[in-house]
Amino acid sequence: MARSYLKKASPATTNGQPSTDVAGIVKDVIDATRRDGDVAVRRYSDKFDKWSPASFKLSKTEIEDAIAQVPSQTIQDIKDVQANVRRFAEAQKASLKDFEVETEPGVLLGQRNNHHWRVRYRYIPGGRYPLPASAHMTILTAKVAGVKVVACTPPDRGKIPVTTVAAMHLAGVDEIFVLGGIQAVAAMAVGTESVPKVDFIAGPGNAFVAEAKRQLYGEIGIDLFAGPTEILIVADETAEPFMVATDLLSQAEHGPDSPAILITTSEDVGRKTIDYCSRLLEGLVTAPIASVSWGQLGEVVLVDSLDEAYQVADEYALQHVQILTANPREALEKMTNYGALFLGPMACVSYGDKCIGTNHVLPTRGASRYTGGLWVGRFLRTVTYQEVRSAEASGRLGQLCGRTARYESFEGHARSGDLRAHLYLGDKFDW
Ligand code: NAD
Repeated sequence: MARSYLKKASPATTNGQPSTDVAGIVKDVIDATRRDGDVAVRRYSDKFDKWSPASFKLSKTEIEDAIAQVPSQTIQDIKDVQANVRRFAEAQKASLKDFEVETEPGVLLGQRNNHHWRVRYRYIPGGRYPLPASAHMTILTAKVAGVKVVACTPPDRGKIPVTTVAAMHLAGVDEIFVLGGIQAVAAMAVGTESVPKVDFIAGPGNAFVAEAKRQLYGEIGIDLFAGPTEILIVADETAEPFMVATDLLSQAEHGPDSPAILITTSEDVGRKTIDYCSRLLEGLVTAPIASVSWGQLGEVVLVDSLDEAYQVADEYALQHVQILTANPREALEKMTNYGALFLGPMACVSYGDKCIGTNHVLPTRGASRYTGGLWVGRFLRTVTYQEVRSAEASGRLGQLCGRTARYESFEGHARSGDLRAHLYLGDKFDW
């Protein structure tokens, strides 16, 4: 297997970690929030976002005022996108079936998908760009699952992010806080005077938000590690380099820590893509960000065959994988490690990010090796139950339980089994 690099990430930033001590900053903010509550939240909101309103929670009037500032075409677009997201989420919910099975006569085992968690909080990112799309993805999906939702989103350069607020409201949110970053995640997790403590936080975010969720996991539930965006494209000689370059940069603009990788069987496609990226960056308004991520984290890998390309792509295990080959659907069989797959030139990662209807909250930093992205099922708890209606079955299970529990030295467990073996099969016990 031969693999060579037409462009390689700069070693100092290969894994996309900013040089800042993210974990240390996050720990300080969490500790201070535990200790000082709202005082700390306000101090950090002022420090990181220059944002210190009378109340972080939006009133009904503030929500109505925000929505009134959004152009009617934008409101219509939000509704159209939310219809797509809702349709897909409803189909996901319909695929989840409660069931009960009789594993042996009189022994009933069942599974249910319960939604009644008390309150779920969403984090809707928006430090660099307001992200109303994340409102559709997180709030609507939770609503389809039947969950009450209270959401936090950062201010937009010192102001209420009106389009995001409109998207949150149209998605059916129950309460909105304009509060961003670590201080929002910490306040929701530990609870302060003005922000109630919650049991679950979902939603994507930058490295600070992702690290805050990681440090607080266990104390609260989280959806997944959905950090800085990533794109990987698998291309053969049929791919159009101009399209490959356009699509790589579409994700590189998310942030300076967003890797964009091309794996190709065609040296010509690889070289032309590198050339187009340089040319396209010249006219891209977000080039100050995209040129950093493409320059430092962008890679173009040349491989001998598509089978090798799929294997290398699985090793990267990135968030978004786009397939620009003659037979894109074969990737469904050949690849396993990705958050979302985009098949053929007529689909693209930007559709997934913004409008097509699948969820854009997806695993990053290799997490697709062990999890998929956010979906309706993440807002439900799959629980089980059991009932035994046959005395004979209960007695036999009691005998089995008594023996197996004693292999493990669990005398108390064994006695629960002994008792039923006695009651239903007449066995004797001597304890
Ligand atoms: P964000 O809301 O995630 O973070 C903004 C907040 O970060 C600010 O409010 C600020 O409080 C805090 N912050 C910024 N710099 C800080 C510093 N130096 N110290 C402490 N706190 C600091 O918004 P964003 O920054 O625009 O990032 C959004 C991220 O979400 C991007 O990285 C994007 O790629 C990612 N994203 C991921 C997915 C996914 O599914 N994985 C989906 C959408 C977006």
